Amino acid sequence: MNIDLHIHTTASDGRFSPTEIVARAAELGMTAIAITDHDSVEGIAMALEEARKFPGLLVIPGVEMGADVSPDEMHILGYFIDHHSAELSTKLNLLRDSRTSRGKQMLSKLDALGIRVPWEYVAKIAGEASIGRPHIAQALVEYGHVSSINEAFERYIDDGGPAFVEREKLSPVETIELITKTGGLAVLAHPAKMMGLDTIIPNLKKAGLIGMEVYYKDYTSETIARLREVARRYGLIPCGGSDYHGFEGDGTRIGQTDVPQKTIDQLVALRKQRLAGKTP
Ligand code: AMP
Ligand code: ZN
Ligand code: FE
Ligand code: FE
Repeated sequence: MNIDLHIHTTASDGRFSPTEIVARAAELGMTAIAITDHDSVEGIAMALEEARKFPGLLVIPGVEMGADVSPDEMHILGYFIDHHSAELSTKLNLLRDSRTSRGKQMLSKLDALGIRVPWEYVAKIAGEASIGRPHIAQALVEYGHVSSINEAFERYIDDGGPAFVEREKLSPVETIELITKTGGLAVLAHPAKMMGLDTIIPNLKKAGLIGMEVYYKDYTSETIARLREVARRYGLIPCGGSDYHGFEGDGTRIGQTDVPQKTIDQLVALRKQRLAGKTP
């Protein structure tokens, strides 16, 4: 209810600015949130600035990185990352630049299919954000090529679709190592649909994984119970959040999940330990 550790802003594909998200969370009486934009920490400074107005609200600087597990993608969250880290920014910039060239390649593929959307239009939709398929989908809708975002994905840009292009990604282990090296606590995002968690998790743990999402958006109580047990088995902190993007009709709201206060206590304790240089 009062804790939400997975929220997007205009720094990636969310609708509201970091300032708006923090103010809204405070208004809702939230006690802890994490700003977790896709491959970006550009919204963190703004969020932390706004957070100074609300001493009762802990704002955790975070990131959500898409790691490569071809043909799929695994999402890793980084809590308490150092958003001033040059190493992190350089890497994120590289990943984001690759999104630009990949977006252009997707438009060429669409063009070859007779579907024309100007690059400038997609870039305008994305604004400050790094270009993602949702932006291209929106442009396709607004140009009347399809009638919904969903149709844009289904017909053209879904994984393996006729206009789909892969983007540059780090491996899950590289991603976790980068997050950990730059002061972050690495957490596996929305793992409910992942196969073979018992084979994957030990390797991720070795790389530095400290938690996994258990309480997520609309997970059922059965799913939550199953994931809580997995987290317990591997000594991972059970985290979670709404994955709020702010778009009407996507069915999410801030604080949608019941993340327990204990999760925050554990994350903060681990963070303090790390700062004190005592890696457990
Ligand atoms: P990208 O990171 O550019 O590859 O885009 C991936 C994003 O597209 C995901 O994070 C989702 O938000 C969105 N997405 C993926 N598949 C669909 C779909 N079928 N319908 C709507 N949005 C989707
Ligand atoms: Zn997103
Ligand atoms: Fe995700
Ligand atoms: Fe997300």
